[in-house]
Amino acid sequence: MIAKVVVDVPASAIDRLFDYIIPEEFAGMVEKGMRVSVPFGPRKIQGFVVGIEEEGTSEHQLKSINDVSDVEPVLTEELLKVGFWMAEQTTCFTISALQAMLPAALKAAYQKELRISSKGAKKLPNEMAALFSDEKPVIWETLSIEHPELLTQIQREIRSGSVEVIHHVRDRISKKTERVVQPNVENRVLMKECDSLSNRAAKQKQILSFFIEHPEPVAIKDLTDSLSITRSTVKTLIHKGLLLEEQREVYRDPYAGRDYEKTEPLLLTEEQQAAMGPILRAIENDIHETTVLHGVTGSGKTEIYLQAIESVLQRGEEAIVLVPEISLTPQMVSRFKGRFGSSVAVLHSGLSRGEKYDEWRKIQRNEVSVVVGARSAVFAPFTNIGIIIIDEEHESSYKQEEQPRYHARDVAIYRGSLHNCPVVLGSATPSLESYARAEKGVYRLASLQERINRKAMPGVEIIDMREELRNENRSMFSSALYDKLQDRLVKGEQSVLFLNRRGYSTFMMCRDCGYVTECPHCDISLTYHKKGNALKCHYCGYQQALPKMCPSCESPHIRFFGTGTQKVEEELGKVLPEARVIRMDVDTTSRKGMHEKHLKRFADQKADILLGTQMIAKGLDFPSVTLVGVLAADSTLHLPDFRAAERTFQLLTQVSGRAGRHELPGEVIVQSYTPEHYSIELASHHDFETFYNREMRERRTHGYPPYYFLALVTISDPDLTKAAGIAEKITNFLNQQLSRQAIILGPVSAAIPRVKDRYRYQCMVKYKREPSLHDSFAKIVEHYGKAGKHKDLQISVDLNPQMLM
Ligand code: ADP
Ligand code: ZN
Ligand code: ZN
Repeated sequence: MIAKVVVDVPASAIDRLFDYIIPEEFAGMVEKGMRVSVPFGPRKIQGFVVGIEEEGTSEHQLKSINDVSDVEPVLTEELLKVGFWMAEQTTCFTISALQAMLPAALKAAYQKELRISSKGAKKLPNEMAALFSDEKPVIWETLSIEHPELLTQIQREIRSGSVEVIHHVRDRISKKTERVVQPNVENRVLMKECDSLSNRAAKQKQILSFFIEHPEPVAIKDLTDSLSITRSTVKTLIHKGLLLEEQREVYRDPYAGRDYEKTEPLLLTEEQQAAMGPILRAIENDIHETTVLHGVTGSGKTEIYLQAIESVLQRGEEAIVLVPEISLTPQMVSRFKGRFGSSVAVLHSGLSRGEKYDEWRKIQRNEVSVVVGARSAVFAPFTNIGIIIIDEEHESSYKQEEQPRYHARDVAIYRGSLHNCPVVLGSATPSLESYARAEKGVYRLASLQERINRKAMPGVEIIDMREELRNENRSMFSSALYDKLQDRLVKGEQSVLFLNRRGYSTFMMCRDCGYVTECPHCDISLTYHKKGNALKCHYCGYQQALPKMCPSCESPHIRFFGTGTQKVEEELGKVLPEARVIRMDVDTTSRKGMHEKHLKRFADQKADILLGTQMIAKGLDFPSVTLVGVLAADSTLHLPDFRAAERTFQLLTQVSGRAGRHELPGEVIVQSYTPEHYSIELASHHDFETFYNREMRERRTHGYPPYYFLALVTISDPDLTKAAGIAEKITNFLNQQLSRQAIILGPVSAAIPRVKDRYRYQCMVKYKREPSLHDSFAKIVEHYGKAGKHKDLQISVDLNPQMLM
């Protein structure tokens, strides 16, 4: 038999399948979706088996597989298909696409341990059971050397579920298993034994009575604790053959031990029902259809997700819910866990590798049927998906900014088509791309116009900061915002202060000569961090001590410009010294668990003001927040990006959604230097439709999405002339290859011309239909990817880019 293998050599010339002979010893063991070790030139490398055939197609002498790395497939057939599709769609190497779908822990797993499952304990054949009789764990790698003859048989047991495979993961949290005991004989025997025990063996009697009533496995520790007995008493009963002890896997569940109040489905409003109807029909009739669910914050979208999922579960199918990383708060998680309890797995970057792996395994073993997670959860290895939901579908974090540059929305829709199931894209501010498709009828549009209980949207007041300056107010707080903050303090209500984006932070400038300290490796100014009194580069991590005088003119008059969160915090301390402030930004939340801790303190009313960046803009829901202040609404508006207005509108809409979600009415103050800009003006009226129409006009005039598709080629090299020269050649090549309808711009120096000592040039393609586009890109990557020729050159192709810098 021949295995078709995608090898782990990310090079364009090699991005195809290779044939390998499946040697006798692995016959019947190798399956599609498993990883194998194969000879490649002089090396041994890893690869994915993606097909098995009787005969090879190559005339060359074939080599054999060296080793099989997996005992069971790590990718389903469907996910293999998704991998090939993704490689083509994003012009990445197939191997990168396949690897992107695995949890990190699996890539690093170094040992596979076998265990008898609770199901297999009783029915394993004797020679098999003997293997596991020892206390020592059975390691697949050792077994394949010592008992190769047993391997296929074991694999069969694994497939039938009698034996389980646990990947050992290097992880700081190493509590992975616990010892449990359970009855080894029938209840009848236990009763008889219990009766025949003398009264001196009261403790043994007590244990037996316990198991007569609860015949399920119980952790030894729990047993000894709750019955106040010793381990040796338990051992005695094990030696008598009455109880059975075994090692059982326990999940490192980061949400374990928390109680989730069980919630029941709410009676849907008419609007909700109207939006839900078609989704339910699609679920019931296995129809693949994409719905844009447009509804302001608080309009009841999440309740619709929950009820749609419920009907999916009733059909025995599974659901994937994607939520942006920063919205994946405990509050969000509890809404799903509250409704579906332990059938929910959660995947987000705050988990350790081991924890992520545990959640992934629950999905793989069908122990859960709902996954709630950030971007990569779209690859959840479910086999019977009934719905895929993307909340806040407009979020740019759904696009991966490194290879493979996939957009989770596209993957979701593709998987939805493979599973014949609906996909729901929810948002208060849908992306222009999705909304335009809904308007054209490619997607279905469902709208929720009102907040639940007709709660009014908060009033938004725009403050013209230029006016403040004219009135001699040089503080970062307008007088209106200051007054309202003070008013909330008096009333004991809470406020949220939002500072638009982290990049809008403090840089150092000399007041005498205007010198700004820049990163020596990137063309970007360094950011001042109070902690450690240092200047840091946000692109490459370079760091230096704060200079005492200007490096250029030696003047001691150094000043900090910009308003970082730290600076706002300081200023607050001066003008409202009695206010208790919690600051949330990358600096205060980088340690694990801190994010949650801050939020909990705020929820517990241990602070008056929550001050933060993007990370506080979403998903949070605090009853006593009645004031939201946006300090610099325009700071995203002037970025060199055609989505600047859209991002500003989205952000302002989201931030204002934080106020007045409950009994108390909310108020929003937006400070801006360009209050007349339509994105700010329309966000303050919560007017998505008008914004959409206005912004579509802009996009049409300037030839941007959704009227055109974009592709961005970035060429970088440590050698400036080389980068520029090759960018020129690539642009010329594209001009020859593509049709006259395509608009090819550049090459130009990138908005940040140098990062990590590499000079960056870009070429942008705008197109509507360009059948040979993917081919042309593949040729470019292939041509310049040839080993040795352009050692330091990097070319990245980004289709539908979210970031243009
Ligand atoms: P969104 O996801 O659009 O922000 P939610 O689903 O979170 O909206 O709903 C906002 C609030 O309204 C939540 O507290 C939710 O429990 C409540 N809610 C949603 N639907 C209903 C309903 N049909 N009846 C009563 N309350 C509802
Ligand atoms: Zn100077
Ligand atoms: Zn740098």
